[in-house]
Amino acid sequence: MSRRMVVLLVDALGWELAGRTPGLADGFAYRRRLETVLGFSSGALPTIFTGRPPAAHGRFLMYRRARGDTPFSGFEWLRLLPARAQRSWRLTRLLTRAVERRGVRGYFNLYEVPRPLLAEFDLAERDDIFAPGGLPGDSLWDVLARRSIPWRGWNWRGREEDHLAALEDLLERGDERFLFCYTADLDDLLHREGSEGPGVQARLARYRELFQRLRAVAAARGDELWLYLLSDHGMVDVTRTVDMMGTLATLPWRWPRDYLAFFDSTMARFWWRERHARESVRAALCATGAGRWLEPSALEAGGALFPDHAYGEDIFLLDPGVLMLPSFMGSRPVRAMHGFDPAHPDMAALLWSSRPVPDRVRGLLEVRGYLESELDALLGVTA
Ligand SMILES: [Zn+2]
Repeated sequence: MSRRMVVLLVDALGWELAGRTPGLADGFAYRRRLETVLGFSSGALPTIFTGRPPAAHGRFLMYRRARGDTPFSGFEWLRLLPARAQRSWRLTRLLTRAVERRGVRGYFNLYEVPRPLLAEFDLAERDDIFAPGGLPGDSLWDVLARRSIPWRGWNWRGREEDHLAALEDLLERGDERFLFCYTADLDDLLHREGSEGPGVQARLARYRELFQRLRAVAAARGDELWLYLLSDHGMVDVTRTVDMMGTLATLPWRWPRDYLAFFDSTMARFWWRERHARESVRAALCATGAGRWLEPSALEAGGALFPDHAYGEDIFLLDPGVLMLPSFMGSRPVRAMHGFDPAHPDMAALLWSSRPVPDRVRGLLEVRGYLESELDALLGVTA
């Protein structure tokens, strides 16, 4: 008999949604609500894997301000193209390949970032964050490598269906002690359908059945299965949209001339070139009543204060349920979104386990330490 750990990390599976899904909790005797971090998965996943906050590992949002050489260096020429060509899918494909050829192995999407502005920005994630050495500083993957623990992992590179089948197969036939699967399928379904969508419900039912099969497979082999269901953040149903770019267009200040801006789905981030623009923009966005400016104290409390302003000199965060439309992420509405205030109940992440979860585990920051102590227990190491 052997003890084996299986961790399923489901992007955007909120504590609230999981809790009201029939049967999903079966077999998970220990269920903990986890506080997520400000921002998106680009910051949340490195936080889980390193056990350090965004300000410490440097990852917060997908796009940061360019400093020195970037995968978009030289893209300034794109402004010479006609507007229609700039928006074409052919150009998007071409540019995506160019970025990959420049060695970016991390997750990125050019979305609808205005092509002439790309050269102003950089991608925070250049390496494979699911592999040893892929993150700034020490990570869970480095621990697995250092301790020579036989393991396998799957992530967004490929199809969830194939990955879960492979995981089940290795649990049945393999000798790995640690199996890990990250999936963003539910995140995608939630964006499209909202939390009550039929595809969302069907997918949750599929996970429930998967857990049942994994338990059966391990039992048939006489193995002791330690099962963990984990997420990085939840998802909030969209209740209204707000046109931030439209609001800004009514001001005498223009971007990118007077300031540089990046519009994530829930955040507007600014770097000022013309200092008078700042007060005017700050007042105008406040007047929308759709959100608030994140003061340095709030960013510091969220572990996301970057003294070099890599992610913005000023950041405006929309209220939970409010979607920026259009944004650089898209011009079509979605049913649900994340990247809101981590304190909103639907933003909470989760850690469900078949094993006790100590009291100290309260947020994403504590997950890595917990999984490491579980590995100690799995291998019979006494501290
Ligand atoms: Zn998402």
